[in-house]
Amino acid sequence: MRFDRLRLNGFKSFVDPTDLIIREGLTGVVGPNGCGKSNLLEALRWVMGENRAKAMRGDGMEDVIFAGTTRRAARAHAEVTLTIDNRDRLAPAGFNENDHFDIVRRITRDAGSAYKIGGGDVRARDVQMLFADASTGAHSPALVRQGQISELINAKPKNRRRILEEAAGISGLYQRRHEAELK
Ligand code: ATP
Ligand code: MG
Repeated sequence: MRFDRLRLNGFKSFVDPTDLIIREGLTGVVGPNGCGKSNLLEALRWVMGENRAKAMRGDGMEDVIFAGTTRRAARAHAEVTLTIDNRDRLAPAGFNENDHFDIVRRITRDAGSAYKIGGGDVRARDVQMLFADASTGAHSPALVRQGQISELINAKPKNRRRILEEAAGISGLYQRRHEAELK
């Protein structure tokens, strides 16, 4: 699976629909301080099912919705669409029929998040599992936040194991076992 395109609409500073085309060999996003570089990476993590508001640098998840400026009104919802290139057919069964498919997450004030894969309504867990099995999830070591290297060095062994499990592509299994034990 490859990421083709990230589309933001009302997400943080990206109030107008904005497309980030992810081409093979893309190595950097540059721009002045505060222009939205970190917001782009957060949108990617968010559409993959991130559920910790803190990881989005907010107090609550609704803080990802465009909050308004002196010239533009706040938005009632935010939406991020990630287009996946699945020509290698590595998406899990059920989502694996097409060369390309979209994952959409939308948050509405007071109504929380809704997810779609390939146009059909799914649960947050379905999106999280899709990426956990592909070991590219919201917690994936492929996405390195500021300060994360020192966190890794100082992490308790149990938390460090989680990171290794994600890298090994077995965190989906871990999560399923945890859910089975709760039943
Ligand atoms: P730096 O180079 O300093 O790391 P950056 O390019 O990573 O900067 P970001 O942190 O992505 O910048 O963007 C910060 C901007 O996003 C700030 O101007 C902030 O006001 C704006 N912002 C964050 N959340 C919202 C929101 N909910 N509504 C509107 N604007 C927002
Ligand atoms: Mg930044």
